[in-house]
Amino acid sequence: MAKFKTHMGWGVFVGVALVVAGLIYSIISGIESAIWIFSAVLLGSFLPDLDLDGGVPFQILFGLLGAGFAGFIFFNFYQEGERSLKILILIPALTFVAVRFIAGYIFEKFTHHRGMFHSIPAAILFGLLTIWFSHLFKIIEGKELVIGASVAIGYIGHLILDEIYSSTNLKGYSLLPKQSLGSALKFYSDSRLSTLLFYCLIFALALTLPETREFF
Ligand SMILES: [Zn+2]
Repeated sequence: MAKFKTHMGWGVFVGVALVVAGLIYSIISGIESAIWIFSAVLLGSFLPDLDLDGGVPFQILFGLLGAGFAGFIFFNFYQEGERSLKILILIPALTFVAVRFIAGYIFEKFTHHRGMFHSIPAAILFGLLTIWFSHLFKIIEGKELVIGASVAIGYIGHLILDEIYSSTNLKGYSLLPKQSLGSALKFYSDSRLSTLLFYCLIFALALTLPETREFF
């Protein structure tokens, strides 16, 4: 299994390659789209290791989610005219704790490393989720599909790198394949429940999103 730093380096490489290809084939234009695509690939390239309990990807994502929700709640209270410092500080702080630690704890309990998060359907699911989030927060309008695809590409890049690392030992010589070979690029996991859940979510999102509905 490749380390976080290796995945980031690889993510930067894939991100730059994708931006260059996008510019050559005129899929994207302008610095803003280039930054979005690059960031989306980078995000995708660390997402699979979310299932690594207490790992850097887990800490980054749940930290960001906690801070995001806390900020959102603070902003809403403030806009509605709330000026009590107790409420303005306490409730966002509790929200942060609830997301970062409680939701994070539940997430860690229900995932195990290289389970369903290291699979092709997970890459598709996170691509679709990105499109859904982009619509929800009305960011990068008209480019949702490209950004979603960039996350999925970064995600698959991570899985491929894990596979490459599985077939080589620590010094880089390709000797006997390790046990984890083939455990990253798969279509299902040992858990039937999580496999079913992932496919149901893909199906539900594909039916809801305008991009995929159009495609069908
Ligand atoms: Zn991995």
